[in-house]
Amino acid sequence: MTSQGLEKKAKLLEIGEIYIPKEVNMPCFASRSTAGPDAGASSYAFTFEGARIKLETTKNQDAKLRLVQNNGHFNIFLDTDKFVEHVKVLPLLAHAPNQTFMNLSSKCIMNCAFCTTVELMRGNGGEMTAERVLKIIRINARHPSFEAVALTSGVPDSVAETNMRMVKMIKTIREEFPDTPIGAEAYFEDIQCVQRMKDAGADEIKINIETWKPDLFKKICPNRDRDKTLAALEEAVRVFGRNKVQSNYIIGLGETDEDIIDGLKKLGNIGVVVNLRGIRLGELNRGRLEKALGKVPERVSAERLVKLAKVHKNILEMNHLDTDSFKTMCFSCECCDIMPMQDL
Ligand code: SF4
Repeated sequence: MTSQGLEKKAKLLEIGEIYIPKEVNMPCFASRSTAGPDAGASSYAFTFEGARIKLETTKNQDAKLRLVQNNGHFNIFLDTDKFVEHVKVLPLLAHAPNQTFMNLSSKCIMNCAFCTTVELMRGNGGEMTAERVLKIIRINARHPSFEAVALTSGVPDSVAETNMRMVKMIKTIREEFPDTPIGAEAYFEDIQCVQRMKDAGADEIKINIETWKPDLFKKICPNRDRDKTLAALEEAVRVFGRNKVQSNYIIGLGETDEDIIDGLKKLGNIGVVVNLRGIRLGELNRGRLEKALGKVPERVSAERLVKLAKVHKNILEMNHLDTDSFKTMCFSCECCDIMPMQDL
């Protein structure tokens, strides 16, 4: 991607939402995720200049970004500037393009401050049955763009039970889809469970560190254990191998660039590939983040995203890691972050 394309993607990520007038004839339906940074929102994915991006839709006609259709082409306007031309709308299979990424439970007892899933599903905790999961994968698998399956889950009861359900689901999917890459996103209290996910048939794993500094981790993930998360990441690299382990790393919570880089170096050293994600703010998490941090965080600027992505790329190279060999989850999706090696 050109440096201009990179700067445009970073600016779109900084803003995060787009107004789509009724007159625009969208070629596919919006996605409404129950997990991930856009949980609870209606979103579309777009591609331009080799970049992919997912943006939440807003009803605010005065939003900074507006999608416009001229002579059949889609363009994105930033205020009154034609900011990105020849944009394509990217169909999403389930949550992500090219893959069926499903949330097994939208109920969660962990209460992480940034997460919207718990608020989203309060009083409405639908669980995904094996029949439903298989049905969705079978439908998606008929689509020519289908490449992979991934699972995530809220924790409705206990971490152990949640992980056992995921292990069972992976086994069930693997039996019917022997050659499809499967990714699993989970939190572990017992690191033995990492091996069980691998034995069940998972190819890649995502264990989210969320933030690096221990005091911040305690504030935003009050019911998770940072040391156990780090132990699980190390075990995951032992079990799955280097370049098979992903970790979500949220930035914009009040940490310095030095804090972020310190975390990138330590995680790179153990063979974990991080996706750096600017904090997303919405009605569902603003209040909880304010309570946890003592202030409402600000969205991360495009300049900071690009600056950190450049350092991140160097750290990955120094550790013989990359983002483009992953087959599942965020590195194969590419929609929510600046992806070193793919975007710069
Ligand atoms: S980058 Fe990750 S969180 Fe974002 S849409 Fe893709 S799979 Fe979901």
